[in-house]
Amino acid sequence: MTFEELELDDSLCQAVTDMGYSKPTSIQSLVIPPAMDGKDILASAPTGTGKTAAFLLPACQYLLDFPRQEPGATRVLILTPTRELALQVHEQARAITRHTELVCGVITGGINYGTDRETLSQNLDILVATPGRLFEHIEKESADCRDIECLILDEADRMLDMGFGGIVGQIAAEARWRKQNMLFSATLEGVGVRNFARDLLQDPEVVEANPSRKEKAKTHQWYHLADDMAHKEAMLIHILKNDITNAVVFVKTRERLQALKDKLLSEHVDVCWLQGEMPQDKRNSALARFKSGEVPVLLATDVAARGIDVPNVSHVINFDMPRKADIYVHRIGRTGRAGAKGTAISLVEAHDFDVLGKVERYTGEPLKARYIKGLRPQHKAPSTTAKKKKKSATTKKKSKKTR
Ligand code: AMP
Repeated sequence: MTFEELELDDSLCQAVTDMGYSKPTSIQSLVIPPAMDGKDILASAPTGTGKTAAFLLPACQYLLDFPRQEPGATRVLILTPTRELALQVHEQARAITRHTELVCGVITGGINYGTDRETLSQNLDILVATPGRLFEHIEKESADCRDIECLILDEADRMLDMGFGGIVGQIAAEARWRKQNMLFSATLEGVGVRNFARDLLQDPEVVEANPSRKEKAKTHQWYHLADDMAHKEAMLIHILKNDITNAVVFVKTRERLQALKDKLLSEHVDVCWLQGEMPQDKRNSALARFKSGEVPVLLATDVAARGIDVPNVSHVINFDMPRKADIYVHRIGRTGRAGAKGTAISLVEAHDFDVLGKVERYTGEPLKARYIKGLRPQHKAPSTTAKKKKKSATTKKKSKKTR
């Protein structure tokens, strides 16, 4: 399928060509037609599937088909859980609308209120916002949601995780004259997302991204068994000094991030970093230095990393394993995007084996151990996990035989 076959306006087709998209991704082919028919959309689409354009293109088409009759407030509202994601969605919205007269704006925490006022005083067609800051403006009556015709929730599962459920509900109530809703979430599993969707959507078209083989399975994944922190550091330094073009390294906490950053710098590995509570300008400049290729390594905590759009990351490295399998999937979504080859490496200590098992079950793919010459672990993998694995492998074999 081509973008022209989706019956998008020439100006939008031209923009996607400029952006280097040759054809729609599977989520785009599945979402755009029903969304253009005005249906509500409930889509499961992790980062990296092209979900942003999947909601932006039909929203823009609607705005072009039904142009604004008189000056007024925002017509399409996109809520995102994090500041970075808001900025990236805004960037994509601007790129997609560049051959049109549509006006896009963004308001997020961390930006000064004066800039927000300027943004909100325009005749915005599309507003991208984080829920907290937008709600402050609604309470102060400096933002008006009554003209909203289409409400889009990006990474709804993450918004719920971050405790924005209530505020999003209140914003939706403010936007009560809307005609269409789209909810995107990495997964549709879990009562939270299901209830949220039931409250906000009307008879939605449910769309599950089923990325084509070209779009997925491009990420090579393995793990290194680590004895302790010092061993993990030594392995990380080895990996980063050998054939890494650009890598995102995930760590558990801000404190760990600071310590690791100092260690890497002392080993002459050039790094920049993102962490939760960091002034917006610093976050933006760290991301820009990494995106431009000036610095090859970006250290991040999960809070800071969700939704970062960094194209062509060669490696995702889990210096610390995440607590949950879905976070692992989000992390590794930074690599192997849109058909590019990617690698995800996890440094795994004995106490991480539980989560490793969860990841394998969640993704349905076993992770193999690899070793680095001169840095082999002194300890073996915990035997309980090895046993469990053996047992489940025999059970599988048996059930195959009986089939
Ligand atoms: P997203 O899932 O929206 O974060 O998109 C992931 C990456 O894929 C972004 O860098 C997009 O610019 C890119 N992208 C989105 N749609 C397409 C497409 N149809 N063809 C190629 N790349 C795309």
